[in-house]
Amino acid sequence: MSESAADDRGRRARNGTEGAEHGLTTVGEGTRAVRAGLPEPVKHEPTLPGPVFAAHYHLPGDPTGPYTYGRDENPTWSLLERAVGELEAPGRDGVETLVFSSGMAAISSVLFSQLRAGDAVVLPSDGYQALPLVRAQLEAYGIEVRTAPTGGDAQLEALDGAALLWIESPSNPGLDVCDIRRLADAAHARGALVAVDNTLATPLGQRPLELGADFSVASGTKQLTGHGDLLLGYVTGRSGDTMTAVRRWRKIVGAIAGPMEAWLAHRSLATLQLRVDRQNATALTLAEALRERPEVTGLRYPGLPDDPSHKIASQQMRRYGCVVSFTLSSRERADRFLGALRFVDSATSFGGVRSTAERRGRWGGDAVPEGFVRLSVGAEDPEDLVADVLRALDESAD
Ligand SMILES: *Cc1c(COP(=O)(O)O)cnc(C)c1O
Repeated sequence: MSESAADDRGRRARNGTEGAEHGLTTVGEGTRAVRAGLPEPVKHEPTLPGPVFAAHYHLPGDPTGPYTYGRDENPTWSLLERAVGELEAPGRDGVETLVFSSGMAAISSVLFSQLRAGDAVVLPSDGYQALPLVRAQLEAYGIEVRTAPTGGDAQLEALDGAALLWIESPSNPGLDVCDIRRLADAAHARGALVAVDNTLATPLGQRPLELGADFSVASGTKQLTGHGDLLLGYVTGRSGDTMTAVRRWRKIVGAIAGPMEAWLAHRSLATLQLRVDRQNATALTLAEALRERPEVTGLRYPGLPDDPSHKIASQQMRRYGCVVSFTLSSRERADRFLGALRFVDSATSFGGVRSTAERRGRWGGDAVPEGFVRLSVGAEDPEDLVADVLRALDESAD
């Protein structure tokens, strides 16, 4: 291949435009998920090429791309980045995806590459539990941080003069939802960029770029990859100066995904629609069963028609996630409940094919009651899971 053809291929792979010949914009989401990011078939080559383990690439003469050094580029990332781009922004030209070593690496890359001393940023007050640590670091760099809750579009009030609005919808762990399009329009009218943490929804549940956001940022550690065996993150955004700055941040911080993780993630995307549909349907069934229990208070699931989040969620989401949250009477009661579960592992994180749950207050980072439980619904048979949860409620009764 001539050097310019290689350059061109790398550029197209990086931009996520290669693969448009698959016609993936017009097909169903399951078809798109199983084919996302696959290279054109080559006789005797595997469908999804294996991980490329390389610190450096053969590079005689002038150092031109696409592949020079392993901190900048990797062919396994390129395929995954194309796949995520096809899911986050199907059919959109000029959109680019970058993968990172974790969701926090992706989040930090956007915040720290876009903001300067003297800028103001609006963060959710009820977002992911590491955001307060990020806040302290932003403030140490002279950036003004304003916070407001996700529900009721409360961040609107804090937008004047802000350079960036950070949205997490649905929020983790409270499952509040805000009107992304309304907030994005208001932010853009004031000249602010908009990023949405899309971790809980996954790109099959919500496509923030279509709702007006400049960046969709997510942890790939959760339901996107779904097996609880890797950490990963990504940023999808319009190509141009902003994404160039995100790419530069990845290079200077070196927060890069391992090739094995990237490959495992891509392999997992093939089952994304199957997992998400199964897990989310069971989450709704479980929420409906929990609604009947008098000892369960503060039940939240955006897919429940009477949930406070449902109206907005139904306008902007296509699926409502696999996380159900609720509160039991006390810390002791919640611990007994968690201990009595057989098919739900006591563990943090969410989105995996094996159900997990935890008393969120044990970390101390979220403003939640002591008996608050975040339960992530896996791919078990719905009857088994619901029966297990109801039995554990009975056995842990006060
Ligand atoms: C888990 C999570 C993150 C952080 O992702 P890591 O991959 O653990 O770094 C960020 N945002 C949300 C909403 C999360 O649930």
